[in-house]
Amino acid sequence: MKSYVAIVGRPNVGKSTLFNRITRSRKAIVDDYPGVTRDRIYGDVEWDGRHFALIDTGGFSAHDSAPFTGIIRGQILTAIQESDAVLLLFDGREGLNPMDITICEHLRLAGKPVLYLVNKIDDPKHESAVSEFYRLGIDRLYPISASHGLGIGDVMDAVTKHLSHGEEPQEPGDVLRLSVLGRPNVGKSSLINRILDSDRLVVSSIPGTTRDAIDTMCRVGGQPYQLIDTAGIRRKKSVYQKLEKFSVIKALKAIDRSHIVLLLIDAAQGIVDQDITIASYIAKRHRGCIIVLNKWDLAPKAPNLVSNYVDMVRERIKFLSFAPVLTTSALTGKGVMKIFNIVNEVSQQYNARIPTPRLNTMFQEIFMSHEPPRHRGRLVRCYYAAQIAVRPPTFVCFVNTPEGIPVSYERYVLNRIRPASGLTKTPVRIIFRKRKR
Ligand code: GDP
Ligand code: GDP
Repeated sequence: MKSYVAIVGRPNVGKSTLFNRITRSRKAIVDDYPGVTRDRIYGDVEWDGRHFALIDTGGFSAHDSAPFTGIIRGQILTAIQESDAVLLLFDGREGLNPMDITICEHLRLAGKPVLYLVNKIDDPKHESAVSEFYRLGIDRLYPISASHGLGIGDVMDAVTKHLSHGEEPQEPGDVLRLSVLGRPNVGKSSLINRILDSDRLVVSSIPGTTRDAIDTMCRVGGQPYQLIDTAGIRRKKSVYQKLEKFSVIKALKAIDRSHIVLLLIDAAQGIVDQDITIASYIAKRHRGCIIVLNKWDLAPKAPNLVSNYVDMVRERIKFLSFAPVLTTSALTGKGVMKIFNIVNEVSQQYNARIPTPRLNTMFQEIFMSHEPPRHRGRLVRCYYAAQIAVRPPTFVCFVNTPEGIPVSYERYVLNRIRPASGLTKTPVRIIFRKRKR
């Protein structure tokens, strides 16, 4: 299971610069899908064979002029609570700042492994600036220069050492894992309670699946489902608590543990940026997704309402074009149980295997009906295709020059392979690889 490492520090110390440095360095392999969203707050990193998700908490405060107050402060504190290790950044040029001391105190209370980094040490002659920070009572400080890439390797070695302990237990069994996500007040807890209180269902809690999540097992139509991290959602909270508690890392963790995510949108309010941010995580993680327009009872009555809504969803959340869109009212219960029919359909496609001969016929036809542009004067050829994974279906296409396939052509192949294979409701991945001799 994946670990989460948060970069924390007051504004302008260099968090985003460090984030970019680590997620873009050559030794750390990054699984990033550009173009999905403007917001870049996390990236997957591999270092010495260990994987973790790196979170830039600086991204949380991008639109806030008052740093370390209110919601932003809540965000940073929950980030600290929910990560497995923290990189705390100081500014070596500006020296120790009262806000550094406050953040340090919070970190000590949290009891998480912390690495203390003094940034902007671009030259060995600046290293004397580091000593001032020992006043915080820290044993070890790492001088780094995020912008020049100095000292980063030591930090990465130390982080991965912390992460090599405390592995989480493996997810059990093959039961479909489902999560309900959405911004505060869209109706997540109403929906889950509605599902679980229905007397058709057998419910049992399964605590301890991971360190802090409590899942719930339920059965619908004889089919078992594991609802991810339901405890925190079922409890009723005040609006203020909800704002404080909405946690990007929590959402990421739930997505990572799910096969299929129900993304709830408030139909009365329409789509807002936070919906798109969550949607983009689901897309980047290649999870199955169903977009649920909740509070449909409040939607204004108008002709073609559903199709207009679906158009709006497709327009604003382009990268989840495969996600079925449903309407529900958690309040009246209308449409709630039909969610499971769609979940089953998506699940079937998410786990589908396409026989190799059929797959190859499809790829040949797709390449023939519209050839890729020549690469340095050479024809780009597709030799062979194979499915290498399910959840989601992942196809490798062996070609002579993978570097010669433009993104637009990848998209073309993807858009053709979906209808051809019947995989219209699941994410699908296609990887172009050089044919081995
Ligand atoms: P954040 O608000 O903590 O995310 O900080 P940023 O990453 O946006 O950096 C704030 C400013 O510090 C920018 O102007 C960066 O170019 C600069 N900066 C970041 N790292 C370094 C560094 O290692 N050396 C120097 N000299 N400047 C840096
Ligand atoms: P959460 O923060 O996403 O868990 O949202 P809640 O389930 O706590 O719902 C927030 C508010 O919206 C509550 O007052 C609910 O009663 C209300 N609500 C939830 N679903 C619906 C719905 O389908 N229709 C209407 N009219 N209200 C709803």
